[in-house]
Amino acid sequence: MKYHVISLGCPKNKVDSERFAWVMNSAGWTHCDEPDPSDLIILNTCAFIAPATEESLEYLSDIMNWKSERPGRKIVLAGCLPGRYSDDGSGGLEDIDLVIGPGDWRKLSSWLGVVPQGHALVSGSGSYRYLKIANGCSNGCAFCTIPSIRGGFVPRQLDSILRESDLLVEQGAKEIGLVAQDSGNWRQDDSDLAALAETLAVRHPSIWWRLYYLHPLHFPGRLPEIFCKHSNILPYVDMPVQHASDHILARMGRKHDVRTIEKIMETLDDLPVEVAVRYTVITGYPGETEADFLSLMDFLGRYRSGRHIAAFGWYPEEGTLEYSRAIDRGDSVDDSTASRRLATISSVGDSLYADWDERLGGRELDVLADDPLTGHTKWDAPEVDAVVSFTEPVVAGTIVRAKIVESSGAVLVAEPVK
Ligand code: SF4
Repeated sequence: MKYHVISLGCPKNKVDSERFAWVMNSAGWTHCDEPDPSDLIILNTCAFIAPATEESLEYLSDIMNWKSERPGRKIVLAGCLPGRYSDDGSGGLEDIDLVIGPGDWRKLSSWLGVVPQGHALVSGSGSYRYLKIANGCSNGCAFCTIPSIRGGFVPRQLDSILRESDLLVEQGAKEIGLVAQDSGNWRQDDSDLAALAETLAVRHPSIWWRLYYLHPLHFPGRLPEIFCKHSNILPYVDMPVQHASDHILARMGRKHDVRTIEKIMETLDDLPVEVAVRYTVITGYPGETEADFLSLMDFLGRYRSGRHIAAFGWYPEEGTLEYSRAIDRGDSVDDSTASRRLATISSVGDSLYADWDERLGGRELDVLADDPLTGHTKWDAPEVDAVVSFTEPVVAGTIVRAKIVESSGAVLVAEPVK
């Protein structure tokens, strides 16, 4: 019997999907890359914001059709979509054989009647992998559904993280991304995320370590120092700043001010190593004035380390504090203003890329080859940032020294150096 897994959303879901695959393999099922020959599909969904929910529902509808084409096919619906909507009593889940919440591999294993053997990561492969260091979030941002779906922040134990890192390296990973909803909040005894990254970098010195989801409130103070000390801790900061107006940050419930993020950026800009920051921001937030928006634009264009901007519009997500507050106050930003602001931010993103294009042109860099023809630099996370296109095939899964011969925003063309 064959199964196929569809994993939507962020890298954290990919880690959950690997655990589901581990359970399926333990029960004697065989993984299949294609849905058609498969007897069962696990759809691991994301429902963080409205577009993610819509994407998950579109996949679900396609899979319902897939099931109706052959008797005996089964569907397992997992992740945030059922985590968020399973209790709403609206039905519609009759064709689904099993519904499980985010990361709930135990429910899958009891449904299959199997006690999984070995380690949860037996199913993974590829040049880059992800290692989850915590679950949930306790920050309670006013726009966010995550704490209600995934629960409060629970860090994983150091021993367990180290064991998993060993296994990922044994499986051939060349880059490992540390992920959590709020990675900077990881702690055990006197250790923080910077100490954890340092421990991992020393334990596996040939691996590239990338840190994701660094909330400014929990940005580890020693991180800039360890970027300089360990060349395999990638000088890359994935930071959800969300806004750069004090009054919007306060309304979002972010618990820090603009000066907090300015100080982080000033520190990164002053380092002897070149750091790339990926900002995540929300515009069109209820109560956002033109002056607030201009503050955000000014901030995003100000720092040399700024490389990527992931901008989102605000969505009235049911169940969040802002959902009812925006209705009560009647101060939502109208759709056309919100769309214009979103489009304007993407033009700032283009100018950041243009600046980096100038800096990278003609330089020799290390590039991790994800396949024979493409890879990524230390300043670009796989799947979401700029891609390097090699001028000739290289060996997948190796770090290749290459010269940038052309650069145009999200695509860098590089010639391997002999
Ligand atoms: S930090 Fe805020 S936005 Fe991020 S997951 Fe936690 S509550 Fe949501």
